Amino acid sequence: MDFSLTDKELMFQGQAREFARKRVRPQAMEIDRSNEFPSELAGEMARMGFRGLPFPARYGGVGAGYLSYALALEQVCAASMTVGAVMAVNTVPEEAIYRFGNEEQKQRLLSPLAMGEKLGGISFTEAETGSDPGEIQTASRLEGPDYVLSGEKQFVAMAPAVDLSLVFARNEGKGLNALVVETASPGYQVKEKYDTLGLRGLATCSVTLDNVRAPAVNLIGEAGKGFEVLLDAITLGRLGVAVEGVGLAQEALDVSLDYAKRRKALGKSLGRLMTIQGLLGEMASRLEAARWVTYRAAFLRDQGRDIKHESSLAKLFSSQMSVEVTRMAMQVFGSFGTVKNLPVERLYRDAKMAEIYVGIAEIQRSIIAARLLSSK
Ligand SMILES: Cc1cc2nc3c(=O)[nH]c(=O)nc-3n(C[C@H](O)[C@H](O)[C@H](O)COP(=O)(O)OP(=O)(O)OC[C@H]3O[C@@H](n4cnc5c(N)ncnc54)[C@H](O)[C@@H]3O)c2cc1C
Repeated sequence: MDFSLTDKELMFQGQAREFARKRVRPQAMEIDRSNEFPSELAGEMARMGFRGLPFPARYGGVGAGYLSYALALEQVCAASMTVGAVMAVNTVPEEAIYRFGNEEQKQRLLSPLAMGEKLGGISFTEAETGSDPGEIQTASRLEGPDYVLSGEKQFVAMAPAVDLSLVFARNEGKGLNALVVETASPGYQVKEKYDTLGLRGLATCSVTLDNVRAPAVNLIGEAGKGFEVLLDAITLGRLGVAVEGVGLAQEALDVSLDYAKRRKALGKSLGRLMTIQGLLGEMASRLEAARWVTYRAAFLRDQGRDIKHESSLAKLFSSQMSVEVTRMAMQVFGSFGTVKNLPVERLYRDAKMAEIYVGIAEIQRSIIAARLLSSK
């Protein structure tokens, strides 16, 4: 076992840390307050190659691998989970095309996403289901050279900003189709923007598909086998959320340490109180455990391994850890933790989002238990 990072990994981590410090952290509060999508930062991440980090250069990516992606994402998420989520959500359709697309699709659809010329999203949640893709009602039927899609999707992150959306819809026969839809297509309508607790500014909206045409050549994988595509690509989404939890918990710990050194209680710094030390020690140990479960999942993906199990483990543990660690940060800050112009209050709200989106904790537990029960 070697836990040290390579020079290349350290380089991507360092670049992201600088970007987060100079560009993201100063804007984090305003993104949260305004609930406006951070278009400018999304563009800057494209120019830095952050929207195609794991994928090979021949498909427009940087070829940095999944661990470098995780290290960079962690830094951005420490500054703003919303800005990090832009990077993470875009990676899910990229992963689907990379794993299941043919060579022509990788050139035509993955390259512009990985190069940052286009932004991608994913759309599976509907009014009747989020946790069970088997219940998806949006229909897709083949008509000449195109699929025609009709239905309503909910909670589509970055909906007004994305150029391409990987939409999951029922196949005419049976199963699901995974189709890349151009959001500029007639009939694709972005509706209500949700006023969410956390992850504010991610422009999460409902979307109506009213006879939207997508060329049949945009079908990713085989007709009716979209469920397989979703299960595989979503593992990268889960890895992304695990990283988000680690990033924001690190920020919660850092601001708590700083506060504990500066703030006085009973004539001495907070950090000298046993209760505060207990909180800080607990936060650090939980965070470190989540970090390594998460890095290991990314490392295994770099080895070409299926990480359905590991990404669920990491997502479950890290998201719960971030809820606990931000709650502890709130205790360290006392009343100041609840104030909106200090970061702890935002971190606390964002952490709860990590537990919910890209598969709730209950689903992660079922996935993990199913694997354990089926193994010899
Ligand atoms: C900010 C944000 C961004 C999002 N972005 C996207 C996106 O880009 N694309 C997209 O498609 N979706 C997106 N989502 C949707 C999100 O992934 C789903 O909402 C999430 O997976 C949970 O699904 P649900 O809300 O339908 O919960 P439901 O499936 O309705 O579940 C509700 C509750 O029921 C319980 N439950 C449900 N199923 C089970 C089960 N099998 N076992 C035990 N308990 C269960 C759980 O307690 C769960 O919390 C986003 C959501 C948010 C908040």
